[in-house]
Amino acid sequence: MTIVEKSPKTLKKHDDAFQIEWKDGHASWYPYRYLRQMCPCAECAIIRHEGKDVHSLFSPQGDGDITLIEVSDDIQPLDIQLVGRYALQFSWDDGHNTGIYPFEILRETCPCPECAPLPPIQNEEETE
Ligand SMILES: [Zn+2]
Ligand SMILES: [Zn+2]
Repeated sequence: MTIVEKSPKTLKKHDDAFQIEWKDGHASWYPYRYLRQMCPCAECAIIRHEGKDVHSLFSPQGDGDITLIEVSDDIQPLDIQLVGRYALQFSWDDGHNTGIYPFEILRETCPCPECAPLPPIQNEEETE
């Protein structure tokens, strides 16, 4: 994949998800809960699985055996900032704001059926 393909064209904040349209025409939709769970900061990576990277969220790439970060269902970003041209920084309403999400990682962890080998991780208690 080239750098151009991993560059975002449009960024949009929705009520419960963040949308990125990429220069190659792909559209990614990231529920906030998913984004918070895959927070790439060192602190969260340690909670997630002894420091394994965000790719461990997808079992074919990681070992699938990760501890999910506890996130409330209605987590919201209070603020979203561009970090240079390469990343986004989310400040979450649970007080966490150290996660810087490079566009490259965002693209690689796009949860759409086309990109993700498995559906995004859900907590069990969502069975109703
Ligand atoms: Zn974090
Ligand atoms: Zn995708």
